[in-house]
Amino acid sequence: MTSPATGRFAPSPTGPLHYGSLLSAVASYLNIRSKNGAWLVRIEDLDPPREVAGASTEILHTLEKYGLYWDKEVVYQSRRGERYNEALAQLTKDNLLYRCSCSRKEIARRGEKFYQGHCRKGSKPERKRFSLRIKTPDRAVTWMDMIQGQQIFNLFDSNGDFIVRRSDRLYAYHLAVVIDDAAQQATEIIRGSDLLISTPAQRYLQEALGIQSPQYGHIPIATNAKGEKLSKQTGAKAVSLRDPARTLVMALRDLGQDPPDDLEASSIDDVLEWGIRNWVLSRVPGELTL
Ligand code: GLU
Ligand code: ZN
Repeated sequence: MTSPATGRFAPSPTGPLHYGSLLSAVASYLNIRSKNGAWLVRIEDLDPPREVAGASTEILHTLEKYGLYWDKEVVYQSRRGERYNEALAQLTKDNLLYRCSCSRKEIARRGEKFYQGHCRKGSKPERKRFSLRIKTPDRAVTWMDMIQGQQIFNLFDSNGDFIVRRSDRLYAYHLAVVIDDAAQQATEIIRGSDLLISTPAQRYLQEALGIQSPQYGHIPIATNAKGEKLSKQTGAKAVSLRDPARTLVMALRDLGQDPPDDLEASSIDDVLEWGIRNWVLSRVPGELTL
């Protein structure tokens, strides 16, 4: 049985939705709806210290204001620890994990951009705090990206032995994403190209866990005039709720689609319907300057 086309939007509740994340949401929504597929939302609230109170509610509210309604119940990663533990147990059984108690400073002092396996043979036993890292082989991971084309990354050089459970015992992003994309049966993942470098790590984890990889498409990330990624850190503003139809038309244009000028005066439902009916993924540009 082939599963129906399923896309997802997976925001972290570290602040309100900004234009860059809205672009990811719109692209994944239109792409999957144009195939009559399901669109799911997952709140990536894995990291309580970075979470901003009220942000998840605000993000969901914004999606609704933009007419981006999701199917099924919203999944919250904070409630899925049991599944992540099962995956860690499986990886441990397969002898793929090891403890590391290197501090950031120590890693920096060794001049490593990515962790190069220092503790594979055992970490300093006197240290109580340790993270769990996965052994990554020195080989290529490749995939045909639906937007960026053929991708080839050496695992060891692009991610190194990455962390699957942090020293504060929080689950790491790569692990949670891979487990949840599989649990939600996502078939097509459209997200920002700031995550392009994460994809080799995630595809490797899928392999290690015996999970079939979905397809990936990485949209260009929105940058400000200084060329910085729009994010809370660079002071990106929350998307305005005042004129969602106009903002949606702007998003369509930034995604390389060609909406007629008078669409701005239509309702959001009409804009989205136009977007679904006329969606052409191959028109999405690889890069974008705003
Ligand atoms: N939660 C991640 C973020 O907001 C996105 C994860 C994903 O789409 O894979 O950057
Ligand atoms: Zn170490």
